[in-house]
Amino acid sequence: MKPIQKSKKLDNVCYDIRGPVLELAQRMEEEGHKIIKLNIGNVGVFGFDPPEEIQLDMIRNLSNASAYSDSKGIFAARKAIMQYCQEKGIQGVALDDVYTGNGVSELIVLSMNALLNDGDEVLVPAPDYPLWTAAVSLSSGTPVHYLCDESKDWAPDLNDLRKKITPRTKAIVVINPNNPTGAIYSKEVLLEMVKIAREHGLILFADEIYDKMLYDAEKHISLASLSTDVVTITFNGLSKNYRSCGYRAGWMVVSGDKEMVRDYIEGLNMLASMRLCANVPGQYAIQTALGGYQSIDDLVGEGGRLAKQRDLAWKLITAIPGVTCVKPKSALYLFPKLDPEVYPIKDDQQFVADLLKEEKVLLVQGSGFNWGKPDHFRVVFLPHEDVLTEAIGRLARFLERYRNK
Ligand code: PLP
Repeated sequence: MKPIQKSKKLDNVCYDIRGPVLELAQRMEEEGHKIIKLNIGNVGVFGFDPPEEIQLDMIRNLSNASAYSDSKGIFAARKAIMQYCQEKGIQGVALDDVYTGNGVSELIVLSMNALLNDGDEVLVPAPDYPLWTAAVSLSSGTPVHYLCDESKDWAPDLNDLRKKITPRTKAIVVINPNNPTGAIYSKEVLLEMVKIAREHGLILFADEIYDKMLYDAEKHISLASLSTDVVTITFNGLSKNYRSCGYRAGWMVVSGDKEMVRDYIEGLNMLASMRLCANVPGQYAIQTALGGYQSIDDLVGEGGRLAKQRDLAWKLITAIPGVTCVKPKSALYLFPKLDPEVYPIKDDQQFVADLLKEEKVLLVQGSGFNWGKPDHFRVVFLPHEDVLTEAIGRLARFLERYRNK
């Protein structure tokens, strides 16, 4: 038998959060090394449990959940999502506009697959949550990265965005709150993005999975709430706000002038049917989660565990010479910058691999988030304060050696 190659469709697909450095970490663990992992926002492994009422409700419904559901999801979940849209000011959402999925991840890939032809372009932020770039490439589209501006609290650079629109552009991806930067976008910036989409007839894809993880009493504005005409697909789910990554419960909602995208919606419906339905027990958790006690507020509010960990991680990281970091307003991550004068890094993947080998701390390099320069990395601040202190202490030690090389 001749060796079998992977599909050419995967040639430009890259998902480094679970890439070669993670494989190295796994090999080291097999050899008996203990590694502090600050690489993945997998909330459950750090002692954050889903609200008990969600767990109980899912258990109670298990016997109802053994059959396939409607391909868009069970009524109760979609109704609750519709109501959530109303709360967030997203107008004109009917039950039919709501799709549940096996996490937002499945719906990101599905929504790109239904949209793109060879070479169609999608504007994706840099840095981004890299599944967006990967999904565009997998769907035979071309991801075109617009810059977010670190000097402006990582807000999208709208001039850069405008410059990158071509006749092949079909859509703009907006990740707000942002992974990896923790930025929350202002109403002015969001309104401009809506205006740009309207002017050029583009669809907006709004990934808002961190919309309840807001520190310092910040407010989140849903992009879709700012227009009734521009077609916007809003993504959200239980993974982060309800600490339920493993339940694989996510959704997307189509709003705006749906007549303009009737054919695209047919495509979405077809792909949703082809995967039959999303995990049904997970769908049962959605209504309880959205309608229940919002315990996330206790974690991100003043004195909450996540708020304290964010403050500590940020303080320790920014105390390292040559390291700066915009303080995240949301989510679970820091995206610090290494001053290139102090740390002339050529290959940031090698940089995080060296840190792993020397100090047994696992981070993800900035290029894993489609950031163009080798001068950033992402830190997950989910572990308890003592672990964060140990991990960032080791990073500081590693960087000190790097400076003195
Ligand atoms: N979107 C963003 C911005 C994320 O950070 C993540 C996961 O980290 C996802 C989507 C995927 O979430 P899900 O667990 O719903 O697939």
